[in-house]
Amino acid sequence: VFIAFEGGEGAGKTTQARLAAIWLRDHGYDVITTHEPGATKIGMRLRAMLLDRDTTGLSDRAESLLYAADRADHVANVIRPALERGAIVVSDRYLDSSLAYQGYGRRQPVEDIARVNAWATGGLMPDLTVLLEVPPADGLRRLSAPADRIESEPQEFHERVQAGFRALAEADPDRYLVLDASRPQAELSRLIQYRIREILPD
Ligand code: C5P
Ligand code: MG
Repeated sequence: VFIAFEGGEGAGKTTQARLAAIWLRDHGYDVITTHEPGATKIGMRLRAMLLDRDTTGLSDRAESLLYAADRADHVANVIRPALERGAIVVSDRYLDSSLAYQGYGRRQPVEDIARVNAWATGGLMPDLTVLLEVPPADGLRRLSAPADRIESEPQEFHERVQAGFRALAEADPDRYLVLDASRPQAELSRLIQYRIREILPD
């Protein structure tokens, strides 16, 4: 079982992914938590390059390929091995982040980003994607660390990303659970647990 958490900046993905994993472990499941970009050795280097504010002039296509390279390595070295041994994988971001950021955000054709990433991942998609929605202005305000290269993009960029996630969720409602991230943390985690329960093998 593969579960991804998606959303814009400061939506609380990391917290909810962690809470879901704790809950699953409490119920006796073998769970790994992971994230993108940067979950592997090479991925950490790609992440540094992608998010460093000193990275200037990176072309949109190159950026897309670097995120896809990170994902290919993530799938090959972390996600697939875990799924093959029967573990539940909980990932903080996955492929829909590329459709939203590199597709909708950068205004590149979403079908192109989808095609590159389908190849990079061998077609692996989550069984469930939890989308945490937060108005970009609120999310950006919630960030604690100094903004990285992408977080520093203008608010219009983040509005397009947000609208992109929404469009992706509407196009594939069976795979998505869409939640208003401004609701209390405990309430969100309960709603997420209900939905996860439906996709668990008994
Ligand atoms: O989730 P986290 O903040 O760790 O992600 C790192 C950064 O990478 C975010 O600021 C996000 O905007 C950016 N990102 C991106 N495209 C992706 C995935 C993440 O621009 N496909
Ligand atoms: Mg971020």
